Amino acid sequence: MALNEFELIQKYFHHQANAAGLVLGVGDDCALLDLAPGKSLAVTVDTLVEGVHFPAQADPELVAQRALRVNLSDLAAMGAEAQWFTLALTLPDVNEPWLAALSRGLFDAAHEYSCSLIGGDTTRGPLTITIQMMGMVEQGRALTRAGAQPGDVIYVTGGLGDGAAALAIIQGRVHVDDADLSYFHDRFYRPEPRLKEGALLTGLASAAIDVSDGLLADLGHICTASGVGATIRMEQVPVSPAFARLTAEQDMWQWIMAGGDDYQLCFTVPQARTAEVQALVRDAALDATAIGVIHDQRGITCLYKGQAMTVEQTGYLHFDGT
Ligand code: ADP
Ligand code: MG
Repeated sequence: MALNEFELIQKYFHHQANAAGLVLGVGDDCALLDLAPGKSLAVTVDTLVEGVHFPAQADPELVAQRALRVNLSDLAAMGAEAQWFTLALTLPDVNEPWLAALSRGLFDAAHEYSCSLIGGDTTRGPLTITIQMMGMVEQGRALTRAGAQPGDVIYVTGGLGDGAAALAIIQGRVHVDDADLSYFHDRFYRPEPRLKEGALLTGLASAAIDVSDGLLADLGHICTASGVGATIRMEQVPVSPAFARLTAEQDMWQWIMAGGDDYQLCFTVPQARTAEVQALVRDAALDATAIGVIHDQRGITCLYKGQAMTVEQTGYLHFDGT
């Protein structure tokens, strides 16, 4: 006999949670949280719809991993520390193996990033997974998209392009050896939210965003919110070793500059404080690379070894004037 709603919650989503500030979690009408004095609550939510955001056959353990990590990436971009999350599930039916795998992925990721499931909602309908993630950040210290100033240096963490390359590989459009296949699979389903880096950057970066829609689009959000423009030196944009081994020349610049799902941080730092960033990089506390500069002239200019380039958001890379 299929579980009823309450048995389902009890069996798959009512884990012992003992997060800081948690007075009451799953089981009552509301969760109760005590907020630490001097902190701001950072809240973000994402919905994944079957057939739109993940394929029907996708492994629910991986879908859960990805859903949680993508939300955590938004907290990282604000410099917030992960604390609690809620889960709203809409299910077409009660499929226990599916629920068990979803629950496993969710709690594994929650354990890894020290956050607790504190409540949610369970309804019947087309398969949809909504996670609302909450974190804490020192009052007045959250990193926002606004705040980049002319002269600030633009950095990214890690390497760019892995998300878009991973999608092409998963969809069978690009082929790589087994070791790289497993690397890209992991980059797609288990992206690493840059929480540690975000926390390091509070009080140092003037603006930050996580790269979920592609560098040009996301840096564009910083520029719009800050009322500035930017120049990127493309030859300085970092890629992972596995990305560097790819040979799908046509798409690669587009993946690096305009592909999505990298979940790296793009941030700006005042020129006078770039030495602090370099020191963190030298000490291996921060994996970040300078890729350009903010200026007051609007728009984003892409230079490749000094030559102006046009990177189409959805298309190929063109050399201007060649
Ligand atoms: P109410 O009708 O008062 O909103 P529900 O019956 O929807 O309460 O939920 C009962 C309890 O179970 C609540 O504490 C709620 O937060 C929790 N809950 C419901 N669905 C989920 C879920 N998918 N994951 C975690 N907790 C859930
Ligand atoms: Mg309810």
